[in-house]
Amino acid sequence: MQQTLTLANGQQIPYQLELRPRRTVGLKITQQGLVVHAPRRIVVHQLNQILQEKSAWILNKLALREANTIDPVQWQDGEHLLFLGQDITLQVVEGKGRSTIQLSADQLIVSVKDISNHALVGKKAIQWFQQQAYEDFVRRVEIFATKLGVKPPPVALSNAQSRWGSCNSRGEVRLNWRLIQAPPQIINYVVCHELAHLKEMNHSAKFYAVLAQLFPDHAEAEKLLKQLSPQLHRL
Ligand SMILES: [Zn+2]
Repeated sequence: MQQTLTLANGQQIPYQLELRPRRTVGLKITQQGLVVHAPRRIVVHQLNQILQEKSAWILNKLALREANTIDPVQWQDGEHLLFLGQDITLQVVEGKGRSTIQLSADQLIVSVKDISNHALVGKKAIQWFQQQAYEDFVRRVEIFATKLGVKPPPVALSNAQSRWGSCNSRGEVRLNWRLIQAPPQIINYVVCHELAHLKEMNHSAKFYAVLAQLFPDHAEAEKLLKQLSPQLHRL
């Protein structure tokens, strides 16, 4: 339920109210804003009073979230991008013929006829990231499939907004191209997770035993991936 909290100074804070079988009121700040978990039988004025008391905490957390919001890429010269966990800089140069793109040290150099055509620069760059992702992922899948003792499965890129990888019953592995921005260890983790599904099509204890053999630090990597996720979704 979408609700609005009105503070003493008149400021309005929208929030999502979720009624749960619980005794206390819990607050959290998500990408979407304030979420309040409250007992099913809570009375409106009682909830309001609790939220008023917590308003300093709420405002503080909302301000922090604002400060951590990641700016979308503008595809202009000097833009900072991530590739295999490294910071690379976009360099946009004017060229004559067809547009080209190449990575040279930590510079991703895009040559286009019209340097103000940010959409074209973006399109070239995304294509480049996807190309790199495909080559990189196929290589990693081969390495870890061999380690697991299975035939390397076919790999496809995905463009999902919420999932990093998937493995279907036909044994095809799909990996989100945005992962190419992440440090190699994180990519390895996702690759191993999906490969482990070739042996166990679930998230059972057996599955985690297979995964742990292939990639012992999986819990740590999963945590890091979660933290990195907003940044990886910049593209
Ligand atoms: Zn899984």
